[in-house]
Amino acid sequence: MGYTRKSKYQMYIDSFDRAAEQNISTEKISNELFIVYNHDHNSNYIVNVENGKIMSCECPHHFYRGVVCKHMVVVMQQFDIPIAELILENV
Ligand SMILES: [Zn+2]
Repeated sequence: MGYTRKSKYQMYIDSFDRAAEQNISTEKISNELFIVYNHDHNSNYIVNVENGKIMSCECPHHFYRGVVCKHMVVVMQQFDIPIAELILENV
């Protein structure tokens, strides 16, 4: 008892919180390619968009765990691009 594992849904919600609180900026390279810079961690990740929907991010958080990461959330918020349904179904 007392052991709680974070659900993917909770991690999804956490991504919104982190996206809001961290020092993050974005750059649009093309309609399919966005770079998210995290100035606190001095890192950057590429978010891919296909057919007008966010499909993937190269960060480990998304790549290995399949969760919606803060990078996707930031691109969604700043460029008004929806996250692909198939990703949300895995949350
Ligand atoms: Zn990411």
